[in-house]
Parts: sequence; C-alpha cells; structure tokens
Amino acid sequence: MAHLEFCSNCGKKNLFSNRDGRDRYHCPDCGTIHYENPKPTATLICPKGDDILLVKRAFEPAKRYWSLPGGFVELNETIEGAAQRELKEETMLDGTVTDILGHCSHFNTVFGDVLLVGLVMEIKDYSQIIPGDDAMDAQFFPLKGLPQLAFYCHEEIVRKYLEWVQKKSAKGHS
Ligand SMILES: [Zn+2]
Repeated sequence: MAHLEFCSNCGKKNLFSNRDGRDRYHCPDCGTIHYENPKPTATLICPKGDDILLVKRAFEPAKRYWSLPGGFVELNETIEGAAQRELKEETMLDGTVTDILGHCSHFNTVFGDVLLVGLVMEIKDYSQIIPGDDAMDAQFFPLKGLPQLAFYCHEEIVRKYLEWVQKKSAKGHS
C-alpha cells in the first residue's frame, strides 16, 4: 500500500491534488485533508576546544559515514530533551544545550522530509565515551580536518557553527 493511498478517517481512496493552495493528500469522500509535516531533528555540535564530536553511523542511510550526533525529536519531548537523550544513547555522555545555531531542511529522504535544528552542546566530562545505539564509533575531530559527513545538512550546520564561533570571538575582541 502506497503512502497515504487510503484515508485514515474513512478508508476510502485519497486523491493527491491542490487543497487550500498546496498539493496535499485528501479524501474526496469525507473531505479530510491529510497534512504532512517534516520530522524535527536535533543535530548536535559538541565542541572540545577546536575539535567536535562525530559518530560513525551503524545503519543505513549513510552507514559507516561520520555524522554529527543527534536524532529525531519524539512525542512529548522538547528539542533540548531529544538532544540530551540522543547524545546519551549514541555516546553515553551527558550534555546541556547552550545555543541554537539555525536549521537546515532535507527533503524526500528515506525518513521523509526532515527539519534539522543545529544545537551547541556543552559536555563537562568527556572521559566516558562509549559508542552505542546506532553509532559504531564516536571520536573527536579537528574542525579544520573533518571527514566527509553523512548528510549535506550536517556540513551546513558545521558551517553555521564556524560562523557562530567567528561572531562570538569578534564580539569578544570589541
Ligand atoms: Zn475519508
């Protein structure tokens, strides 16, 4: 069965066409419009001096590629809560979100549309890194010598972080 082929309200076949100004799945029988939304994702920059933490992905997509830690926000969870949970699951580290860097949208992935929010996390104790969950490795890399990252949006969030660091140090010198 194709995605949204049938109406979840009445079970009849949906149409995909313009409704309220945008192409959307909707049911010609009961009139329900099936709105769809991107998945918000906490994407983490965990700095340690001039290095940042990367995790090696254990599963597809982009299996064996290095990526920023993070993952989908779940129900009844704030983005900060998701950041802490994902960091813990992937590395066993505890961290606190200190800044929001910005966002990047990735359309039509295997997970659908994804809205990545870049967050800076402060980690006080790095001594107990244990890769887990969907990470097969976790290591620090120098910002100027990062490997190719798993996703375009992760590269974009690293760029936002570099800009943020520059702005911050410019302010510090004025
Ligand atoms: Zn219906």
